[in-house]
Amino acid sequence: MQRFAADPVLGDWHGLLAEIAAQWARRDELRARLAAHPDARFARGPLADHIRARDRYCCGPGCTRSARSADLDHTHEHSRGGKTVEANIGPGCRRHHRDKDRGWTLTQPEPGLFRWVSPLGRVYLTRGEPIRPDLPDLDPGPGPHPGEESDVQAERRLRRYDRKILDGPGADPLRPPPPRAGPAPHDEPPPF
Ligand SMILES: [Zn+2]
Repeated sequence: MQRFAADPVLGDWHGLLAEIAAQWARRDELRARLAAHPDARFARGPLADHIRARDRYCCGPGCTRSARSADLDHTHEHSRGGKTVEANIGPGCRRHHRDKDRGWTLTQPEPGLFRWVSPLGRVYLTRGEPIRPDLPDLDPGPGPHPGEESDVQAERRLRRYDRKILDGPGADPLRPPPPRAGPAPHDEPPPF
């Protein structure tokens, strides 16, 4: 991170990188805040923000309701000793929140992974979708790689398009007419 923060190529990104580096340096302290109030009745503050960012949607099977509008629900009920920590909180929309009282069992085997067991014993695992898919390898080595066209193939493909453009009838859109000389904006004498 220090190395990026000094790289002149990154120009305008320095401020952002410095902020990320500062937050990263404090990660243990920030993480500890998530478990700051394990006996609180409701998840609030950093814990609430973390859960909404982590899960993004209601944790019910197939549910697409936003975590923003869902309750932050204790997986293991607060009234039965469930803690208000990241491993025991998940977003539950009104419907899925109530399913726990309708014969469904919910556990959270690891933070953000939800295991629902239906009244008939079927198991559904849910997890918030990643914000972005995993990035490819930074340096996959000399190509071509699986699914990637070789230089020769790319050349051939591009030539095919070139020919179409060159052989096709001229189909440029009509140009707009040049602006007409309007009346002079001021009553100045012509410059001669
Ligand atoms: Zn739901």
